[in-house]
Amino acid sequence: VVYSGGLDSTVLLTKCKRNFADVIALNFSYGSKHNRKERISAISICTELEVPLYCYDLPEGCIKADKDSGWCHEDFLKSDLLRSGGEIPEGDYDKENMKSTVVPFRNGMMLALAAGFAESRGFNIITIANHGGDHFLYPDCRPDFIASYQVAVQEGTDGQVCLVAPFVDISKEEIVALGAIYKAPFHLTWSCYRSELQSHCGRCGTCRERIEAFKNNGLIDPVEYDIDVDWTGCRSIS
Ligand SMILES: [Zn+2]
Repeated sequence: VVYSGGLDSTVLLTKCKRNFADVIALNFSYGSKHNRKERISAISICTELEVPLYCYDLPEGCIKADKDSGWCHEDFLKSDLLRSGGEIPEGDYDKENMKSTVVPFRNGMMLALAAGFAESRGFNIITIANHGGDHFLYPDCRPDFIASYQVAVQEGTDGQVCLVAPFVDISKEEIVALGAIYKAPFHLTWSCYRSELQSHCGRCGTCRERIEAFKNNGLIDPVEYDIDVDWTGCRSIS
């Protein structure tokens, strides 16, 4: 399971743990502002679910060999989600607002590494929690991308590994509903794109999307928020 420690992949990991005998989680760090918080969540959730966790840190920089200036360091990827990028925008999870936080081909890179990792260990399925609500923003979350990558993984591992993305057509709201059924440890997850706070900011696009998903299920999100969220009409998850 390509595993971030966030809400979507935690529901996926919980579902896999229930359905399969041998499950491992693979967490990536790629220089984002919130990778450290995600990893702390990933460690506690994998401990709770009794799933082995592997962590892989992608180098944040690369070295450019230039005939005039010699060797110089550069950021490998460009995005405001990364420590090297600009401010994380506040406000709704819409395309204009969130596009500066897209990390180019992030899922493509993680899936390629996961495929090699899985084949090396004799695992035959890799799975990722991209969902329908991500399509407008992230090209490497869309059904066409997943379908093409399924072929690439199958071909590139000689049929030994297949890629499954069970949430590709469902919404975050439906993922929360599934998580409630599977009793996913929502309280331990981290979604916020800002990492300097102890609790979720409640203001960034991903926090707002998360709050909406719980509200639409009539459920109170068990994580703490830095703002007062109006949970009127919602109940705690039993
Ligand atoms: Zn936030």
